[in-house]
Amino acid sequence: MTVWQRVPVWMLFAFAACASAAAPPSGKAIVSAPQPKAADTLAADEVRLYALDCGRIDESSFGGYSDTGEYDGRPRTMSAPCFVIRHRRGVLLWDAGLGDRYADAKGGVDEAGTHLSVSVRLVDQLQAIGLTPAGVDFVAFSHLHADHTGNANLFGRSTFLMNAKEIAWASATPTPAGVDPATFSVYESANKQVIERDHDVFGDGRVLILRAPGHTPGHQVLLLRLKKAGVVILSGDLYHARESRQFRRVPAFNDSRADTLAYMDRIETIVGNLHARFVIQHDPADFAALPKFPAYLN
Ligand SMILES: [Zn+2]
Repeated sequence: MTVWQRVPVWMLFAFAACASAAAPPSGKAIVSAPQPKAADTLAADEVRLYALDCGRIDESSFGGYSDTGEYDGRPRTMSAPCFVIRHRRGVLLWDAGLGDRYADAKGGVDEAGTHLSVSVRLVDQLQAIGLTPAGVDFVAFSHLHADHTGNANLFGRSTFLMNAKEIAWASATPTPAGVDPATFSVYESANKQVIERDHDVFGDGRVLILRAPGHTPGHQVLLLRLKKAGVVILSGDLYHARESRQFRRVPAFNDSRADTLAYMDRIETIVGNLHARFVIQHDPADFAALPKFPAYLN
């Protein structure tokens, strides 16, 4: 099977339809007046995790999410969240969802057996917690598939934490299936920090990006040390569903099966060692179990 056949078909077409709405022409972020840093109100050792609804993906067949056939022909809904992490040293956005442009299409967009929809805009959710895109200091991605980069171009004033292997892969010609470079093109003119391995975002061990390649070459997960809630790990696309975690299912559209399995081992060992809460970002039940925005974990 070619890689194109293994990618969910919507990834090949959905974003082309929206490409014209992708980047502001100047490459600058859409910003309004500077606001006081929301993080100033945090206690010195407080980190807050907000889970934002950044879209919904209804697959008529979930078959592409396992290369051993269990999901073939079975429909499945996935959540597509974004996460805001507030730390006294700044604000991090982890993943950027499907993109607010999908909110313009009332009820969403149908593409080759997949329905993509956004019911509430990221900018409006940020406003609800006193933030504008300009108030977000760092943007990082679990990986650069288009369901994780949709709103990235709002953040031209932020520092992009870019995984070296991931950006090299996503920038290749031809563009890898599932990547829409137009959705995150603003990173080229924005401040950037290229990260090679694990990365401590604020330098105190409370917000760590952990490498977990396999789904894509620079795939990574986010580990948070929260004072009350304990350790929380956001999965990226290490798994796409709870059953995938239970049975270690590897998607058919995947860069390296061997790496995926190896890094499932790494992350699950960390989960066990730290008694972490593990959140599968695309699993609607895991998303729904988090405090309903604007409530947060801390
Ligand atoms: Zn995804």
